[in-house]
Amino acid sequence: MQIIHRVSEMQRWSDAQRQAGKKVAFVPTMGFLHEGHLSLVRAAKQAGDVVVVSIFVNPMQFNQQSDFAAYPRDDEQDRRLLSELGTDVLFNPDASEMYPDGYQTAVEVEKVSQPLCGAHRPGHFRGVTTVVAKLFNMVKPHAALFGEKDFQQCVVIKRMVTDLNFDLEIVAMPTVREADGLAMSSRNARLSPAQRQTSLCIAGALNTAQQLVGQGERRAATILRAVRDTISGQDGTRLEYASLCDPDTLEEVEKVTRPTLLAIAAWVGEVRLIDNRVIG
Ligand code: AMP
Repeated sequence: MQIIHRVSEMQRWSDAQRQAGKKVAFVPTMGFLHEGHLSLVRAAKQAGDVVVVSIFVNPMQFNQQSDFAAYPRDDEQDRRLLSELGTDVLFNPDASEMYPDGYQTAVEVEKVSQPLCGAHRPGHFRGVTTVVAKLFNMVKPHAALFGEKDFQQCVVIKRMVTDLNFDLEIVAMPTVREADGLAMSSRNARLSPAQRQTSLCIAGALNTAQQLVGQGERRAATILRAVRDTISGQDGTRLEYASLCDPDTLEEVEKVTRPTLLAIAAWVGEVRLIDNRVIG
């Protein structure tokens, strides 16, 4: 596996692959890799001839400096895992090359960035779309893979790719969960054993909602009340939002009459967790 730090080197490598007729598949990450990330890398190997994985903890998408500072890192293990999977390039750009002195450009997707996480993390999606647009210009992929664990992020990035005419395909992959249902996340490492147990209420709430719909309940307010009760019933949790919305526009619905996104963000102690499921 080749490790590339410089933007110009990354671009040269991708130009050469494209000229040789190879299809470049790309998985952007912030590292501290787990099975969720690795499922994207495996899918990338199917989607392309060569695979680039980036690791960059992007300061611009953290609305709290403390969250950025506490973000877990393990470079050695990440390298080992990626190399074992047959990744061709690990792209690990320096922050000084990403945002050099004088940097002043941002990419902002308007409507679909506003609800859900956008309403609670000001500037977050602006940071995401800016760094992803930059990474696309550096890696020049034919396909880029993202996880539905970050459902809104998938919607926002697809919108950006369409609106800015990026010549690549976005592939959204299903959420990978622990055996007990907790969605895998780099942030799970910050949970104490007791908090780890408590956090199961989030996946539990998604299941409860699906069961209600299965029993014929259609009213969003009733379903969301059950979700709130499931999460707030646990000590040490704070529900940030629970929303039932259209999976394409992210506009809230009042009735669940077709496949509907249930998106949840909740704090377990100092750790913010998100999860979602399309129900209906
Ligand atoms: P991150 O390192 O958190 O920025 O995530 C990098 C990519 O991995 C994003 O496309 C995420 O949506 C995806 N991802 C993170 N967790 C999971 C998961 N549990 N299942 C599937 N994809 C995931």
